[in-house]
Amino acid sequence: MRVGIGYDSHRFVSGRPLVLGGVRIPFDTGLAGHSDADVVAHAVTDALLGAAGLGDIGTHFPADDERWRDADSIELLRAAVRILEERNYQVVNVDVTVVAEQPKLRPHVDAMRARLADALAISPDNVSVKGKTNEQMGWVGRGEGIAGMAVALIDAVRD
Ligand code: MG
Repeated sequence: MRVGIGYDSHRFVSGRPLVLGGVRIPFDTGLAGHSDADVVAHAVTDALLGAAGLGDIGTHFPADDERWRDADSIELLRAAVRILEERNYQVVNVDVTVVAEQPKLRPHVDAMRARLADALAISPDNVSVKGKTNEQMGWVGRGEGIAGMAVALIDAVRD
C-alpha cells in the first residue's frame, strides 16, 4: 500500500463554467486555468501520481501543451489511473477537501463522488468529498479562488 497527497488551487474568473470533481456547478464565475481548472480532479490526480512516486500532473499533462487546452480534467484523471494500472497499481480510496467560501458544495458532493469514482474505477463508497469554507480568512475567504486537497491510497494489484 502507498499513500499520496495532492493540492491544487485556481483563481475565480468570469466567463468560464465552474467544474469541480467533474460536475458543472451553477455559479456566476468559473476558475481560470489552461484546462477546465477542476481543482478537485487535479488534487486527486496529484495524490495518485504522488502515491505511485510518478511525479505530478504538470509532468504528465504540461500546461503549455495545446492538447490539454480546456481539457476535461476527469479525462486527465482517467489517464493517471491508466498510468498507475500500467505499473500494476489500483486505487483503494481517495478523500478530498474542497475549500471555497462560495458556492455551497454540499448539494453537489454525491455527484462529484460518483464522477470521481467512475474515473477511478472504484465504488463511490471509496470516494469522499467534503466542502469547507475558510471562515472568511485569507484569499479563499475573500472569494478569490478555490483550493482542493486530496489523499489517495493505492495498492499493488495481486493476481
Ligand atoms: Mg490545477
